[in-house]
Amino acid sequence: MLAEGLRAEATIDLAALRGNLAALRERAPRAALMAVVKADAYGHGALPCALEALAAGVRWLGTATPEEALALRAAGIAPEQARILCWLWTPGGPFARALRAEVDISVSGQWALDELLDAVRATGIPARVHLKADTGLGRGGCQPRDWPDLVDAALRAQAAGLLEVVGLWSHFAAADEPGHPSIVAQQDAFAAALAYAEQAGVRPEVRHLANSPATLLLPDAHYDLVRTGLAMYGLSPVPEVGGPADFGLRPVMALGARLALVKGVPGGHGVSYGHHYHTPGETTLGLVPLGYADGLPRHASGAGPVQIGSKWYTAAGRIAMDQFVVDLGGDTPEAGDEVLVFGNGEQGEPTAEDWARASGTIAYEIVTRIGGRVPRRYVGGLNG
Ligand SMILES: *Cc1c(COP(=O)(O)O)cnc(C)c1O
Repeated sequence: MLAEGLRAEATIDLAALRGNLAALRERAPRAALMAVVKADAYGHGALPCALEALAAGVRWLGTATPEEALALRAAGIAPEQARILCWLWTPGGPFARALRAEVDISVSGQWALDELLDAVRATGIPARVHLKADTGLGRGGCQPRDWPDLVDAALRAQAAGLLEVVGLWSHFAAADEPGHPSIVAQQDAFAAALAYAEQAGVRPEVRHLANSPATLLLPDAHYDLVRTGLAMYGLSPVPEVGGPADFGLRPVMALGARLALVKGVPGGHGVSYGHHYHTPGETTLGLVPLGYADGLPRHASGAGPVQIGSKWYTAAGRIAMDQFVVDLGGDTPEAGDEVLVFGNGEQGEPTAEDWARASGTIAYEIVTRIGGRVPRRYVGGLNG
C-alpha cells in the first residue's frame, strides 16, 4: 500500500529481513553472520537495515567503500555493537579516519599495508586487518605468489604492535553456478592460503569465504563467518536452483507507484520515445511515473511487468527517464490507482527476479539501482 500522496514508494519489510537472517543462520549454524550493507544495503537503506540486523543479533557489518563504513559509525553504530569490515580501498584511504572509527580493514597488497601503517603511526591506533587472498576470482585479493610476502610483512607489523591480523579471507567467482570447476579450485587455494598464514603464526579471529550463494549451497565454505548480501534481502542468488521460498527467504523490497494518467487512444498509436510500440487497436493506456532515473532498467522496455488490481501488464515501448506506459487493453483503472512494479510475489505480483529476466540482468542489479528519488518506507522493524 502506497502512502497517501506519493508518486511512488519502495516498501522495505524489516520483518522479512529478520526472517531471512534467521533462515541464513539456520543454513550456516556454526558460522557468524556478516550483514553486507554496501551500496545502501542493495538499495534497501544501509542504516535501517544495519540497525535491524543488529537488533536481530548480528555482530558483523560489511561495506565496500570506506565512506559507507564511516557513515554507519557516524550514525552511531559503535564498535561494541558491530565490527564493520570495509574491503575496497584506493590510495589515499582514508585509513586514519577508518582507524579512529574502529573499522576493520581489508588488505590485498603491499601499497595498502604501507599506507595503513603510515596511518597507524600517525594516529597511534593499531589496525584490525583482514588479509585477502585472490583464490581465483581475479579481482581484489593477493595472488598466491605474493601471499607469503604479504603475510610475513603483516606479521612483522603485528610483532611491532602496529596491527592485528584478525581475518583471513577471499571471495568466490562462481558460487552461484553449482558444479563450476572454479569452486573447488578456490576452496583448495583458500585452504592453502590459510595453511601458509597459520603456519607463519597468524591466529585469525575469523576465516571467511562465503557469499550468499555459498552460504546457501556450500556448507564446506562457511568457515567462521559468512558474508550475506542478496539472500538477506530475500532474493535468490541462484534463481536456476531455486526461488526465495525454496531457501526460506522472502523479498524485502516492494516497489509501487500511482498511475499518473489513464486515457483512451485509437489503434495504431505510437507509444513512448521512438514509437517502438503501436497500439494494436482502440485501447487504454496507463502512465506509470517511474523510469530509468528511478533505477528501472531501460533494457526492460517492452518487457517489464507490473500488476494493477489483479492483472499484469507490460511496459509498452521505451521506459523513459521518469515514466513508462502500459497498454491496459481497454481496462479502466483510474489515475491514482496503485501499480505494483515488483514485490515479494505473495499477491501474485511481479518480483525483482521477473524484472531481472525482462532486462537480461540479475536481481542484485534491479534492487540496488532503485534510486534516491524513490522514498523508502520501513515496516515491521523492531527499532520502531
Ligand atoms: C557483495 C559482496 C558480498 C555479498 O555477496 P552476496 O552474493 O550478495 O551475498 C560478500 N563479499 C564480498 C567481498 C562482496 O563484495
